[in-house]
Amino acid sequence: MPIESAYPPITVPPVDVYSFLFDRSDREFPDDHAIFVDVTAQKQHTIQDVRAAAERFGHGIQQQWDRQKGDVLALFTPNSTDVAPVTFGTLWAGGVVCPFNNLYRVGELVSQLKSSQAKALVTHVACLQVAREAALLAGVSLDRVLLVGPRDSKEFFRHFSDVQPLTTDVRKVAINPKEDLAYLVYSSGTTGLPKGVMLTHENIVANMLQWATVDADQMHWSKDRTIGFLPMYHIYGIAVLLLQAVYKGVTIYVMQRFDLEQFCRIVQDQKITFAFVVPPVVLALAKHPLVDKYNLSSLRMMHSSAAPLTADLVQMVYKRLQVPIKQGYGLSEASPGVASQPWPEWNTSPASSGKLIPSMSLKCITNTGAEVPPGETGEICLKGPNIFKGYYRNPHATAEAITPEGWYCTGDMGFVDADQNLHITDRIKELIKYNGFQVVPGQLEGLLRGHPAVGDVAVVGIYSRERATELPRAYDVLAQGFTGGGALEREICEWLGERVAPYKKLRGGVRFVEAIPKSDAGKVLRRVLAEQAKREGAAR
Ligand code: AMP
Repeated sequence: MPIESAYPPITVPPVDVYSFLFDRSDREFPDDHAIFVDVTAQKQHTIQDVRAAAERFGHGIQQQWDRQKGDVLALFTPNSTDVAPVTFGTLWAGGVVCPFNNLYRVGELVSQLKSSQAKALVTHVACLQVAREAALLAGVSLDRVLLVGPRDSKEFFRHFSDVQPLTTDVRKVAINPKEDLAYLVYSSGTTGLPKGVMLTHENIVANMLQWATVDADQMHWSKDRTIGFLPMYHIYGIAVLLLQAVYKGVTIYVMQRFDLEQFCRIVQDQKITFAFVVPPVVLALAKHPLVDKYNLSSLRMMHSSAAPLTADLVQMVYKRLQVPIKQGYGLSEASPGVASQPWPEWNTSPASSGKLIPSMSLKCITNTGAEVPPGETGEICLKGPNIFKGYYRNPHATAEAITPEGWYCTGDMGFVDADQNLHITDRIKELIKYNGFQVVPGQLEGLLRGHPAVGDVAVVGIYSRERATELPRAYDVLAQGFTGGGALEREICEWLGERVAPYKKLRGGVRFVEAIPKSDAGKVLRRVLAEQAKREGAAR
């Protein structure tokens, strides 16, 4: 029997994301309450400001661009409070928001722009060179490349706020929340190259309500403040920095990216009470000497997700700072929240990901699809109103991931214990997670095959306790005429490093092997390599 969430089920209202957030009658916080504080520009934005800027932008693109409902707008920027009006304006105008990692190189961005069929690209001066080149190669018209954050000093690219309505008679686009997409986010899925995860308006609204129920009385706009450094292009950041911020009104101090010293200073000076974190940040808080220079006593709780958090790190932080950390489990395909430790239970089942959030069902299966008995480990399969619609223009991958009965098979292994706590024990999908970011082995292997010394190759993740993250490692069968060794290893690492975003670098190194273990059908036996990697020990 599948396991059902113990919380009462939620009712998902039949509305789109914009209406859900901005037209609600039950909002408790006032119009002039600051929901975003831009720590770089030292500027506050109230919900009123965000709404006005979003509607101006939505009106503007409706009128000035020859648009169709469902057109994709790509976001390629470090964190900026401007992401909020661009996102909500796009949704207002019936568009789909598609965020990309701002560290992508040209080739990576071109392939994502083409795959998503983006019609516009919103970027930042810091990424403008890559954005411009990629837009040209992917066929995105340069007059649809807009900026957030600071303006372009040459004034060639327009700022998003310059896109103004010509008249005020444009109507908000009507949305079918069950069918129409709000977000397209890229994820590895179980195997192969990154795929567009289609998240409908209903998926997103449902997940906001599911989360809000779980943490209902714990955080309040009138007394809590949170700090936002998670990337607004990753589903975890989108959910907690953009959507929950507007829904709950808890003020977020938005950082452009994570920086330990800046994090500590903001927590201390702004009396931050809550932080959404990832395991490597927990590691820094547990061990880095810098932390001692600051008073972080305002923090009441932290929430970690996106990758496994070990119980010893939770204890180390608690011992050092007396700040509890609860853990959650989620994934892009679930919009993203699935399970979370309730606040009072952060320490009762260390290292578990807590309880299923409302309206979620879960079962664990064997590799033949049979359900395992309660308490036993198997592949985690999920059902709920937050489970994605499918992979964009990829019915084959969709059919592989979602069963005809509607179960989404996650590629994660785990079990639910007698107290209903979910434990994630392993991952059978190919995905590697570096500091919470997705590294897709197939993508790196494809590139590495272009190196003259690489005959055959497989990339797997190895876990480094010292860094509290997985690191990508390549197993390379040398091409004829090449001899392995430290110099060639460095050369291959650097060569790949020039072609991918920095978080995808081969931080786990390169190992030269005689052959890549493969099944009779020619499929790489990653598990065998992962076991080998464990025996070899983590990277330097
Ligand atoms: P993403 O779609 O980028 O959020 O990645 C989702 C994947 O991250 C999941 O399928 C898991 O493999 C991993 N993940 C997320 N949260 C946890 C967690 N609490 N413990 C272990 N793995 C996690």
